[in-house]
Amino acid sequence: MKLAIDELCAAFPGPNDVSTDPDTLRTYGFSENSYHPASPHSVVVSHFEPKSTADVVKIVNISRKYRMPITPYSGATSLEGHTSGFESGSICLDMSGMDQILEIHESDSDLICQSGTRWEDINMTLKEKGIPLFFPLDPGPGATIGGMIGTGCSGTNAVRYGTARAEWFLNLTAVLPNGEVIKTRSRARKSAAGFDITKLFIGAEGTLGIVTEVTLRLAPVVPTKVAMAQFPDVENAVSAVQEILNTPYGPHIQCVELLDDNMMKAINTAGLVDQPFPVEDTLFFKIQGDPSSIQNTSKAVRSIAKKHGSSRFEFASTEQEADDLWQNRKYALMSTLAAYPGTRCWTTDVCVPVSCLPQLVYETKKDLAESGVQGTIVGHVGDGNFHALMLFRNDEELSTVNDLVHRLVHRAIALDGTCTGEHGVGVGKKEYLIEELGEGTVELMWIIKRAVDPDNLFNPGKLYPASKKSEGVPKK
Ligand SMILES: Cc1cc2nc3c(=O)[nH]c(=O)nc-3n(C[C@H](O)[C@H](O)[C@H](O)COP(=O)(O)OP(=O)(O)OC[C@H]3O[C@@H](n4cnc5c(N)ncnc54)[C@H](O)[C@@H]3O)c2cc1C
Repeated sequence: MKLAIDELCAAFPGPNDVSTDPDTLRTYGFSENSYHPASPHSVVVSHFEPKSTADVVKIVNISRKYRMPITPYSGATSLEGHTSGFESGSICLDMSGMDQILEIHESDSDLICQSGTRWEDINMTLKEKGIPLFFPLDPGPGATIGGMIGTGCSGTNAVRYGTARAEWFLNLTAVLPNGEVIKTRSRARKSAAGFDITKLFIGAEGTLGIVTEVTLRLAPVVPTKVAMAQFPDVENAVSAVQEILNTPYGPHIQCVELLDDNMMKAINTAGLVDQPFPVEDTLFFKIQGDPSSIQNTSKAVRSIAKKHGSSRFEFASTEQEADDLWQNRKYALMSTLAAYPGTRCWTTDVCVPVSCLPQLVYETKKDLAESGVQGTIVGHVGDGNFHALMLFRNDEELSTVNDLVHRLVHRAIALDGTCTGEHGVGVGKKEYLIEELGEGTVELMWIIKRAVDPDNLFNPGKLYPASKKSEGVPKK
């Protein structure tokens, strides 16, 4: 390990390029977003380096030469222990300095950037340049394109624009564990040239290659308005959403987010609002289109919501009102923590067919109440994806929350759902993959992993569950 670190220091001699400072190794190895077991890294190649694909190749070659695992690290907003260190030693490769937008092709609606670029910076740059396009994947604040590919992210816009698994990544350049650099395909909007290698890296969590450059597809900026509807229960809210999305107005719904009654109570308590909301299960909508489409869609939403028992519908008529209304959704986590001072929060992520969502939410709320755990629920309801924000104050409560998360995931899988709609597997969800995907599918994932990374050097310990068939894989 020492030889590897010496060689990294020689390759990147800047004073802050390579660090073995114990605090730095801990900061990079542990995440404040995850309560899974973690280890510090042995060395961090900082955000001052690398600056180019060639730099990444140098680091990967050192990793291979000394058989030292390597973990790509970018925005560090992932939630399942994705970037934690490997117990017997690892190089943490901070890609966040590779944050340049390299080319913007407005007429082709695409953009080429380095993988450490933040999605928010891309959208800000386009806005500042007066280019009426944007990148619609919107995970956590601070997330970068490399990490978003790594986790297969999505966000509030997924109901309209899909997830990272849609065609928003036209191609990517990646450094493979053998040091080879590949570009997965051309910049053409469509390609039927073989199977989709770009997708192989989406959700691979840095275990197959380190992404350095990406061509992103962009969407036109469309005017939006915000609306809110409140319901007597989640079942009515969900059935209203299903009906709205299946009407011709459905494509004008950019976002539809569920905040349960506990979340509305937390928002009131946290004091972010001038007037407290009635404490009821609530939907927040972003409606997009030209003014007449927005007006017609809003009318349809109001009338369908009423049919499903909605007691209150609010439509933000000005930009300011829209921002104010939407900030209740945006600051859900902050409101939850502010409403219960002294707590920490475990954010879960499961997804089920939309029709199964009310049952899952109902059973989860019952389980939370019976376990004496306080929590709120927020969901990308149009996709059947929801997060329970479960609060705890000490290790004993953390252990209760851990058990609740297990039960929630098993319930979701039993409903033909998934252990993760968008946050990915990391360390935290590995144990559910065989139950969800089956031995055969997991074994195929291992076969691909072994073929690309036979020494198991790229982000070991994440994503792939141990299975009988995986025996013989280097235990890194
Ligand atoms: C407040 C909050 C809200 C969130 N909301 C959402 C949401 O709505 N939707 C959602 O999907 N997620 C959400 N997340 C989770 C998080 O934002 C996403 O998982 C995001 O995609 C992670 O990006 P990152 O740049 O932070 O990646 P990191 O955390 O740095 O890394 C994530 C994974 O990608 C790998 N990786 C990083 N860079 C590269 C690279 N260059 N090449 C290959 N692999 C790489 C890492 O090794 C790791 O396995 C939220 C998080 C927070 C804290």
